[in-house]
Amino acid sequence: MREAQTRTEAGQVVVIGGGIAGLAAAHRVLAGGRRVTVLEASDRVGGKLLPGEIAGVRVDLGAESMLARRPEAVALAREVGLAGRLQPPATATASIWTRGALCPMPKGHVMGVPGTAAALAGVLSEEGLARIERDADLPRTEVGDDVAVGEYVAARLGREVVDRLVEPLLGGVYAGDAYRISMRSAVPQLYQAALTHDSLTEAVREIQAKAAANQQTGPVFMGIEGGVGQLPLAVAESVRARGGEIVTGAPVTELRREASGGWRVVAGDRVLRADAVVVAVPAPAAAALLRAEAPGAAAELAAVEYASMALITLAYRRADTALPAGSGFLVPPVDGRTIKASTFASQKWGWIADEDPDTLVLRTSVGRYGETDILGRDDAHLVDVSRRDLKQATGLDATPVRTRVTRWTDGLPQYPVGHHARVARVREHIAKVPGLAVCGAQYDGVGIPACIASAYAAVDQLDGDLSGVQDLTANPVQSLHGGAGE
Ligand SMILES: Cc1cc2nc3c(=O)[nH]c(=O)nc-3n(C[C@H](O)[C@H](O)[C@H](O)COP(=O)(O)OP(=O)(O)OC[C@H]3O[C@@H](n4cnc5c(N)ncnc54)[C@H](O)[C@@H]3O)c2cc1C
Repeated sequence: MREAQTRTEAGQVVVIGGGIAGLAAAHRVLAGGRRVTVLEASDRVGGKLLPGEIAGVRVDLGAESMLARRPEAVALAREVGLAGRLQPPATATASIWTRGALCPMPKGHVMGVPGTAAALAGVLSEEGLARIERDADLPRTEVGDDVAVGEYVAARLGREVVDRLVEPLLGGVYAGDAYRISMRSAVPQLYQAALTHDSLTEAVREIQAKAAANQQTGPVFMGIEGGVGQLPLAVAESVRARGGEIVTGAPVTELRREASGGWRVVAGDRVLRADAVVVAVPAPAAAALLRAEAPGAAAELAAVEYASMALITLAYRRADTALPAGSGFLVPPVDGRTIKASTFASQKWGWIADEDPDTLVLRTSVGRYGETDILGRDDAHLVDVSRRDLKQATGLDATPVRTRVTRWTDGLPQYPVGHHARVARVREHIAKVPGLAVCGAQYDGVGIPACIASAYAAVDQLDGDLSGVQDLTANPVQSLHGGAGE
């Protein structure tokens, strides 16, 4: 049994899950002067953030980019010592591979929804553009409590905008289906605008005018030299340096409240006692853990669906390749290709190009919600279809020197219509249980900054529960086995 550590306030918090949400929660707990232990099931921290290597070049094998227009991810990176390694993309130009050609990604849209038909010239057919013009004359489309993005946008502007632009853009974030995804949860600014505007294009123009007035400058996205997979490693290091404990290879199997009011957390033969618990694991695992103490929340979480995908990373001799300019391209499902996107990693990130100027790295992704056949195929097949599609899109015909397939089974929670109401119900159930909070990708957004924000909100919620907690020195964490580490 180890000694309790010195602290300024009482309160031992256990965080279950060592993805970016769990680690950000631990970081926040320590900032509040309490003690923290993170229990991570796998043998590494980071979850969907995974640094790796191909042909001697460091790359991200999971998430690769952080939205910089909201503060949380970039701010956390700075706090844990990565300020000097933050890097914007080397190019902000992307394409869309549609109707047999790579077209420059239009500017002047909100998640694919344009302020004017002219903004989509070159991507949509003449009929598609003419259909957008009709928006101004159509009667109002009610959005109610929530509506599918695709359904609403198609009603206002026609299906072509949805199929050729909204769908691939949303698919890039959720691997979902635009005709199922909640507008209220996934594109809240459009939902809010739709409540007060009859015309969608007018609403988008207003959103754009406000953004211009706010003078949001600087890069929209940010990367990290060495990959955004470095972020969880740096957060974990900072947590440990400030006395937090992170235990990997520790899948939590049981979470129970004790008669005394605290918690008993079981991870294999390790039993921990805590004043408060943050559950930062994906919905199915959270449902299993919460079944005993918050069955209502567990039932809601058990109903959250996930999409699976695979990333295919390919390394080429640079001398063999001549790619179009830009950071890569998206592919609308309606075009019937297998890949749904490709990132020209060596062109998008200066740090990847610098790793080895003679090697060019790019990656493709396959798999959308409900699309299971392609993910059932072996790695060699996924590499073959990626090469076939890349050749058709870009002319790239060289043989890669190395390939790597990374599978993300159930990688992305789906946000269907009504998601916000489900999350509200989960939170209602959780709020009834003192010393319990939840965070992660299935609540308020799947992006890295949103996950971090949900972690901070979870810890802030616990602060109220913990304010009256007595010092636990007489009752420290029972670490039955040592060996904490990544
Ligand atoms: C392929 C892919 C690419 C993406 N690209 C981007 C991108 O470029 N930019 C972006 O912003 N977002 C991206 N995302 C989304 C984003 O990466 C994730 O939503 C986010 O990282 C999820 O973090 P999390 O901490 O909520 O969950 P996770 O990363 O899933 O972490 C949860 C952790 O809990 C652990 N765990 C599970 N059960 C237990 C248990 N019983 N006990 C203990 N531990 C347990 C897991 O092992 C895991 O480490 C991408 C997602 C995927 C799948």
